[in-house]
Amino acid sequence: MLDILGNGWPLLAVASLFGLLVGSFLNVVILRLPAQLMYEWRQQARELLESDSGADGAAAGLAVLPDGTPQTVSLPSDTSTVETHAPADSDATGNTGTVAADATQTAALPPAGAAANTDNTDNSAAATTNLLAAAVAVEAAADAPAAAELPPPDLVFKGSHCLQCKHPLSPLDNIPLLSWLMLGGRCRYCKTPISAQYPIVEALTAVAALIVVWRFGFSLQAAAGLVLTFSLIALSGIDLRTQLLPDQITLPLLWLGLLLTLQPVFVAPSDAILAAAIGYLSLWSVYWGFKKLTGKEGMGYGDFKLLAALGAWMGTVSLLPIVLLSSLVGAIVGGLYLVLRRQDSSTPIPFGPFIAAAGWLQFVWGEHLLRWYEQLLLA
Ligand SMILES: [Zn+2]
Repeated sequence: MLDILGNGWPLLAVASLFGLLVGSFLNVVILRLPAQLMYEWRQQARELLESDSGADGAAAGLAVLPDGTPQTVSLPSDTSTVETHAPADSDATGNTGTVAADATQTAALPPAGAAANTDNTDNSAAATTNLLAAAVAVEAAADAPAAAELPPPDLVFKGSHCLQCKHPLSPLDNIPLLSWLMLGGRCRYCKTPISAQYPIVEALTAVAALIVVWRFGFSLQAAAGLVLTFSLIALSGIDLRTQLLPDQITLPLLWLGLLLTLQPVFVAPSDAILAAAIGYLSLWSVYWGFKKLTGKEGMGYGDFKLLAALGAWMGTVSLLPIVLLSSLVGAIVGGLYLVLRRQDSSTPIPFGPFIAAAGWLQFVWGEHLLRWYEQLLLA
C-alpha cells in the first residue's frame, strides 16, 4: 500500500490530509493543555497552602483540621482563625476541646450541614461555638467553589462544543477546514463567530506536513520531521495564547532529538548533545544579561528549552541561523505589532513562535539558508 504511494502526488495528498486531521487535534491541544496545566498549578498551590496553614495551626496550638479537605486548607485567614479561637478559649474555659472539636466537625461538613449544626447546645459556650461555626461555615462556603473547581476537559476523550452556546459539535461540524468554511466561520447553532485560529492551524499544519514529506520523501526523516513540525505548531499556538511553552512538549522534543541520534537520523550524538547545551545556555545568558542590565525579562525558560531541543535535532551548525532569523523576524513583527496596536515596548511578545518558525525553516531548508547567509556575509 505504502509502496503504491511512492514519492509522488498520492503521498503528498495523504500527507496533507494527515496534516489537516492532526491540525484539528492541535487546536484542541492548544486550547486544553494550558487549561489543564493552570488547573494543576492551582491545585498544587492549594495543597502547598494547605500544608503551610496546617503547620501554622499546629505551631499556634490550634486544632489542626484533620481530614485535609480543600475547605479546611484554603481557609486563607490564619490570623482570623486565631482571633476567633482566642475568645472561645477565655469564654468556655475547659471547653476548648469541645469547641475545637465542633469547629473541626463543622468545617469538615459541607456548608449546609454546618449551618444546621446549631441545636446541640444552649449554654454560654453555645453562642461562641455557633459564632465560630458560622464563621467557619462562611469561610468554607466562600472557598468551596474554588476548591470544587472542575478539572478542564481531557485532551483526547472529551468531545468539542461551542465555547459560546455549549452546544456539542457533530462530526459534520468537526471536519477540518471545510466545516469552518461551510459555516462561514460561525457556530451552526448560535451564529457566534468561531475563532480563525481553527482553520489557520489546520491549514498551516496541512501545508507544513506536505512540505516536510515533499522534502524528505517517504522516510524515517519525514516521520520524525512531522513529529517536530506538529510539536512546533502546538508550542507556537500555546505561546501566542498564553505566553507559555509547556515542558510537556519542549522536553520530550529534546529527548526525541537526542534519541534520534542513536540511528543517527539527522546529526551525530556528540553534535546533538553539544548543540542542546549551547542552545540552552546561549539564550539563558542573553536572558540574564538583559535582566541585569534592564531589570526586565526578555524571554522565558521555555525559550531556552525550545532552542536546546532544536539544537538536539539539528546540531550546532543550526543554532546561529535559528537565533539570527528568529531575532530578525521577531524584531520586525514585534515592532510592527507594537506600532500598529500602539503598545509600548513593555508589552510582552512571545518569542517562542519565532524560534519555532526559524527552527522549522532551518530544518527543512537549512542548507539553502546557510548558503544564503554566506552570500549575505560575503556581499
Ligand atoms: Zn454556539
